[in-house]
Amino acid sequence: MDERKLIVLSGPSGCGKDTVLRKIRELDPSVVANVSFTTREPRPGEKDGVNYHFVTKEQFLENIENGIMLEYNEYSGNYYGTSKRAIEELLEAGKTVVLTIDVNGGRNVKTEYPGAMLLFLMPPSVVELRKRIRKRGHMDAKDLKERMRIAEEEIRYAEHYDAVIVNDDVEECARKCLDAIKAWREDLSEACNKE
Ligand code: 5GP
Repeated sequence: MDERKLIVLSGPSGCGKDTVLRKIRELDPSVVANVSFTTREPRPGEKDGVNYHFVTKEQFLENIENGIMLEYNEYSGNYYGTSKRAIEELLEAGKTVVLTIDVNGGRNVKTEYPGAMLLFLMPPSVVELRKRIRKRGHMDAKDLKERMRIAEEEIRYAEHYDAVIVNDDVEECARKCLDAIKAWREDLSEACNKE
């Protein structure tokens, strides 16, 4: 299993992680997206097993109890988490696996898999981010405020990531992400060969 093929894609809610990941996969079909578990309600258009595995709080807690989760976090009142077996199966099949998770999840993944790459997507500005979060709808003022508060906290954590890329234009951003992923793999191979 090649840990260097495990990529964590973080960035504040509304920074365009899903759209950029879709474009990355269009440009490089060997990249797969892992599907996380969540207890939050599906948004309009979201599908179970595609966007998330939507589960109840009881099911989620059972997964934790059974040691299924590689990492999990509570975010804005809901649980989100990654299944360890799912990603290991994908890595063993030789795929490049992208996890779109928050910075707490990123930190936990790096502890478990030090060879994983942490990639941070930065919104062009805080004003633009607020606009994008608002556009999603189905969000009351309290939820918007909470997401903006977490967003600012996440942006402060970006300096601990292996690469930070601004999402101004989706295609350009996706290409830069793929270049960074390639460089990461090559740099680590070189470092291993030198040892
Ligand atoms: P949203 O509700 O907007 O889909 O996601 C809220 C936040 O949870 C985002 O920052 C998203 O990246 C993060 N998230 C999604 N799945 C996971 C996961 O499996 N683990 C962790 N730690 N965070 C996740």
